[in-house]
Amino acid sequence: MKPLQKTVAFSKAAVNVFFHILTRCNLHCRHCYINPDQHGRSALPMEKIQAWLNRFSDPDRKVNVIFLGGEPTLHPQLAEVIKSAKALGYHSVTVDTNGYLFHDILDKVTPDQVDYFSFSIDGATEKTNDHLRGKGSYKACTKGLLQAVEKGFAASVIYTVSSANLHELEKMPALLAQWGVKRFFIQVLGLRGAWDPEAEPLNRVSPKEWRAVVPQVAEKAVKLGITVTYPKVFLAPQEPFECAGRVAENYFIFPNGRVYCCPLCEDYPIHAHMMEGDQLKAMPPINEKDLFQLSIPEGCVMNKLIQPENISYDADGIPAHKIACCLLKEEVGPR
Ligand code: SF4
Ligand code: SF4
Repeated sequence: MKPLQKTVAFSKAAVNVFFHILTRCNLHCRHCYINPDQHGRSALPMEKIQAWLNRFSDPDRKVNVIFLGGEPTLHPQLAEVIKSAKALGYHSVTVDTNGYLFHDILDKVTPDQVDYFSFSIDGATEKTNDHLRGKGSYKACTKGLLQAVEKGFAASVIYTVSSANLHELEKMPALLAQWGVKRFFIQVLGLRGAWDPEAEPLNRVSPKEWRAVVPQVAEKAVKLGITVTYPKVFLAPQEPFECAGRVAENYFIFPNGRVYCCPLCEDYPIHAHMMEGDQLKAMPPINEKDLFQLSIPEGCVMNKLIQPENISYDADGIPAHKIACCLLKEEVGPR
């Protein structure tokens, strides 16, 4: 039986809140996109987190919250934060972690309070993962993941594909099944990030390599009962382009109060909103929302501005394909 594949359309009924409660981290991954100059350096105090969670909760809509950092488990009050989100009626609560699981977080919350712990692993082997994420990180992350599953939490894995680890992606489905993972998120390496241009290059994979490997790996995982999500990246000519910034509600919140609608904008002071007096205040033009209104043949405006090398053109200067919104995903799951 063929797996069920669908493009996850932007939903107007759901709201996604990506809440960076601090930017500090114990790791220094080569592709980390956290930019303290733009995002702040402090950990948000509990009262602020509580007030901001209040602001984004909405009893009439499905609001999903994803707690991120830095490493969110470094926040000493993460357990209270999670409980507060559940009490406010958030539809789902996810914690994205590097797996070190500080402050004994697994002992302070229960599986009914956290929908998913999502573990970042960037290689099927210790050698490949640790080369990208730091020595000891594979062992620590897999240990944390297994402890979470053992305690009855649902676990997912995020794998950021680059030239350094594409070759190990095919080994992941069997490992994920062995570990008891339910969902697999395959990400594409962004051009943003802290990696040192003087060091060995870390490259995005070509569209050809992506298409040759990612959908097949996804099918393999689905056969083992795992749901896989990966970015659409390129649109076929007949597929309509939509910018999530125009048609969906996503909030990327940082400790310095900036609130973005698009992750590609996060390195620039063009955030659409700012938390002020614990309220969401719209920023004056020009901000990211003004850019979302531009309609260009290449599709995503921010991609054209910050990573134009993604786009190829024919001899007449017509783009070979449109770049999809980075928030548009393909989901493949068991029927
Ligand atoms: S674990 Fe996440 S936040 Fe920490 S360095 Fe790695 S990518 Fe950055
Ligand atoms: S990635 Fe592009 S299409 Fe998506 S929200 Fe940002 S600007 Fe819009």
